[in-house]
Amino acid sequence: MSRDGRDSRDSRDSRDSGKRAGGSKMRRAKRKICSFCMDKTTDINYKDINKLRKYITERGKILPRRMSGTCAKHQRGVTEAIKRARNIALLPFTTEQ
Ligand SMILES: [Zn+2]
Repeated sequence: MSRDGRDSRDSRDSRDSGKRAGGSKMRRAKRKICSFCMDKTTDINYKDINKLRKYITERGKILPRRMSGTCAKHQRGVTEAIKRARNIALLPFTTEQ
């Protein structure tokens, strides 16, 4: 005699993923090229806050590379410059808090 030990788990997979959160506005479909690479005369200077402001969010956070389009090499420079600028209070760490 063999018993049939089946367990009948009811695996509910009723997640309703009908709604997609977040309207996907196409913001700049073009791939950005690192502006520092394009213009070699531009160097990254921590005193140049007007330039650095492009690389921080409105909250004062450093933009990720994907968003700014800056290459790894220059992103590093930008990050350093922003940090330096923050330290001498040219740029805010965060606007909030
Ligand atoms: Zn670059």
